[in-house]
Amino acid sequence: MRISELLKRESVTFSLEVFPPKTSEKYTETAAAAKAIAALKPDFMSVTYGAGGGTGAFTAGIASEIQDQFGVPTLAHLTCVSSSREHVLGMLETYREKGIENILALRGDVPKDGKVSTDYKYAVELIRDIRAHGNFCLGGACYPEGHVECESRREDLKHLAEKVDAGLDFLTTQLFFNNDVFYNFLWRAREAGIRVPIIAGIMPITNARQLGRSVAMSGTDVPQRFRAIVDCFGQDPAAMMQAGIVYATEQIIDLIANGIRHIHVYTMNKPEVSARIMENLSVILGREHGA
Ligand code: FAD
Repeated sequence: MRISELLKRESVTFSLEVFPPKTSEKYTETAAAAKAIAALKPDFMSVTYGAGGGTGAFTAGIASEIQDQFGVPTLAHLTCVSSSREHVLGMLETYREKGIENILALRGDVPKDGKVSTDYKYAVELIRDIRAHGNFCLGGACYPEGHVECESRREDLKHLAEKVDAGLDFLTTQLFFNNDVFYNFLWRAREAGIRVPIIAGIMPITNARQLGRSVAMSGTDVPQRFRAIVDCFGQDPAAMMQAGIVYATEQIIDLIANGIRHIHVYTMNKPEVSARIMENLSVILGREHGA
């Protein structure tokens, strides 16, 4: 099913992200976690893609297994910063063969060795290529606090509008811990003429190390309220997990209460965290009978 169709629903959509293994030895373990998450029956699931292209085959494999075995539509990510056009076109063919209709088109992070593609510099070029090579439903990434590399949020928004104009059907945000940042971004995006649905991306932080990594990669601001939680519970894994789940749940409830209809949770491949958040929201999401 095309995600653009799902996003037209009046009801809230709730989706979950998983990542594929880096090596074939880890495939069974990672696929099992992804399937345990799929069994929760989110509206759709996204499957990430290694910037270097290494996990591309695993992305396609896990995404198609989730669709075939659980009937959950999938959004397969695709990055371009380290890929040739030939490789990208091959991946599109693989996605098509596996019945994957939805792609999140990304640049990917520039690799540490600085080796980048000669065919692609920005995601917008990938989006144009995918549009020219098939009828996929296409999403892109957006950054409520501005992308870390960009000089200003205004400039970042200009590039975002170019991506949407190139043919995106929807956007998904990077994680954020302060909903006011998202509301402000939404207002600025609409002012900039961006009309496609924007899905709010929430990451439950369930251990202190994860917070450090996520903030280092995304540059996301950590509010004092959340810092206090990590300071207090960070050394106690069970307490930190509980506090992280509650914090993410509260963020989602606030978003829904303020009219946001599309929520995406970065699960870090943790079925128990995903299940507990869905349980906390069961009535709000209309899933109290396991529907
Ligand atoms: P772009 O949209 O190309 O933007 C990158 C930077 O270039 C921005 O600063 C932008 O302002 C700037 N820019 C864009 N166009 C121009 C232009 N014409 N001129 C000058 N500057 C320009 N990474 C992975 O490796 N695998 C994944 O599966 C993955 N999934 C993600 C999912 C989501 C929802 C998000 C938010 C991020 C994801 N990422 C993933 C991370 C993403 O690849 C990085 O954040 C990357 O650095 C930027 O990707 P992008 O598609 O937003 O790039």
